[in-house]
Amino acid sequence: MLLSFCVALLFAGCTSAQQDTKNDETQTSSIDWSAELSPEQYRILRQCGTEPPFTGEFWDHHERGVYQCAGCGSPLFSSQTKYESGSGWPSFFGALDSSNIRTRVDREHGMIRTELLCQSCGGHLGHLFNDGPAPDGLRYCINSVSLQFEHDSIASKEASPKGEQH
Ligand SMILES: [Zn+2]
Repeated sequence: MLLSFCVALLFAGCTSAQQDTKNDETQTSSIDWSAELSPEQYRILRQCGTEPPFTGEFWDHHERGVYQCAGCGSPLFSSQTKYESGSGWPSFFGALDSSNIRTRVDREHGMIRTELLCQSCGGHLGHLFNDGPAPDGLRYCINSVSLQFEHDSIASKEASPKGEQH
């Protein structure tokens, strides 16, 4: 049972997630996700949706900290690799730990793109492009909805001189 659940999670992606409504087992895992996620998070993380550009919470967000997966909390990106791509989506030129993100070829919409997914929960994050800044030229184009932000605790302590309470 557990194994089949894990396999279902591993293979639930852009193509399979949209045709899962008739399968009882898959529907069970879908219900679990629906309970955890908002409808918009579910649409993007589990059904590979895309938020409209310049609308998300983080495309114009400049605080210091770590961007985590909104599905499972896995740390994905540091604010230190975030940059202004002009795309309207949060863009990063590197991952915090590349082993936390996996890639898959996405052939939806008549394009061949590299889809980015959370390694831990399989949630859809966005796509990887090759038009990023030097030296690697990578652009991790991520939906704000797929992210949650954790403030850098060291930076917050530096900013507040009265940080000595216990
Ligand atoms: Zn995740």
